[in-house]
Amino acid sequence: MFYNPQQYRIKDEAMVPFIDSEEIFDFINKTKNPSRELVENIIKRSLDKNRLTLEETAVLLNTTDPELVEMIKNGARELKEKVYGNRIVLFAPLYIGNSCTNDCAYCGYKVTNKEMKRSTLNEEQLISQVKALEETGHKRLILVYGEHPKYNPEFIAESVKTVYTVKEKNGEIRRVNINAAPQSIEGFKIVKESGIGTYQVFQETYHKETYAKVHRAGKKRDYDWRLTSLDRAQEAGIDDVGIGVLFGLYDWKFEVMALIRHVNHFEAVYNVGPHTISFPRIQNASNLDIDKSNLVSDKDFTKLVAILRLAVPYTGLILTAREPAKIRDEIMRFGVSQIDGGTNIEMSGYTKEEKSAQDLNSEQFEICDTRSLGEVIDELVENEYLPSFCTACYRLGRTGEHFMEFSVPGFIKRYCTPNAILTLSEYLEDYGNDEIKQKGYSLIDKEIEKLGKHGEIVKTKLEKIKKGERDLYF
Ligand code: SF4
Ligand code: SF4
Repeated sequence: MFYNPQQYRIKDEAMVPFIDSEEIFDFINKTKNPSRELVENIIKRSLDKNRLTLEETAVLLNTTDPELVEMIKNGARELKEKVYGNRIVLFAPLYIGNSCTNDCAYCGYKVTNKEMKRSTLNEEQLISQVKALEETGHKRLILVYGEHPKYNPEFIAESVKTVYTVKEKNGEIRRVNINAAPQSIEGFKIVKESGIGTYQVFQETYHKETYAKVHRAGKKRDYDWRLTSLDRAQEAGIDDVGIGVLFGLYDWKFEVMALIRHVNHFEAVYNVGPHTISFPRIQNASNLDIDKSNLVSDKDFTKLVAILRLAVPYTGLILTAREPAKIRDEIMRFGVSQIDGGTNIEMSGYTKEEKSAQDLNSEQFEICDTRSLGEVIDELVENEYLPSFCTACYRLGRTGEHFMEFSVPGFIKRYCTPNAILTLSEYLEDYGNDEIKQKGYSLIDKEIEKLGKHGEIVKTKLEKIKKGERDLYF
């Protein structure tokens, strides 16, 4: 297939889909058993700040020699350290409603699951969930909706606006991202006006036959409508979009290649890649009904995340609490830029008094990392990661932010690290106990030291935060 961006520009909600399985399999098949020299050169190209081609990505996916795989992981680690430093942005998911008209074999919310307890937060319940999240220190949320006509663009926009109005003591939500059904261009425009950050739609699997098998009924059966959804978002003015795959439905190498094709489609047509890529693995769910032959092992999973990091150096990578703490800790070193913390995906779960075992009949799937936000921050600081609640670029209208982080000299020193320091300081002042305060400020001192002359202005703002000012950023 000859990829011509103009052919793939959405017009009047119709366009030619841009994933060609044959093309992907050709690349996978012709790059088997790569030489050491080739793998080394590709890693070097990534470290020189180049996005990898589909063919280069296929070479890395076909690398099996343990020594070369280690080299790929080390390359990803080096890229992350050199380019992004040690920041990890924190967020929390908030489930708004679990009604759904689709029948996705892998999801507890599927319409055919009669055991699922269905509910939708009303305004009062939404406000109390947001307050509970603010009381732990969260500043960034992703709102999650089942796919049901009642969660229409007006409903989504209304819930976003409500979230932004909730202020609890010094707490406030400064960025609301969305994970919801694909919309029409008009629908996306309505959601955009409510002031969202990223709009996420995961294709789940880019393999058409598998897609048809696991999406058994409902609007989601329409592969092309979903695949082209974020093009419609772009046309509606939402240039901050997140893509993703549910690993375990089909061959993981194919899915990584398709993700890269999706990224370069956006770059070719809109001059900006997706803001983030998510790569959840299938977890247990109420009435899970899937063929388990494509589940991805920990070994392949860690390798594929390292390859993604190298292939798309300036796209944010999101790792969620579906994964156990051990895998999260390992993969963070390869370049994950965002994780969730203190996650509870039960409807109204954040206001529950007692932490209880998950009831899969009221949740979408099983989560494996149940640590509180405080515990996650404690561990991050302990391991010298800099937790960040930064929302500065989005609020200052600096778009294409991951690209800037990556390519604008000094961007991280001038903006990202100072903002991480300031938001961590807010967290320590408002929510930290003495122990985490002591550890957190000692990390902050080290980070300021590394900033050289930029450190002085950060110190001035830090003093203001200690005196009670909030929401200071660069
Ligand atoms: Fe509904 Fe989404 Fe679950 Fe499918 S994955 S059943 S669309 S909530
Ligand atoms: Fe992200 Fe911009 Fe904040 Fe850096 S300054 S962490 S790019 S929002």
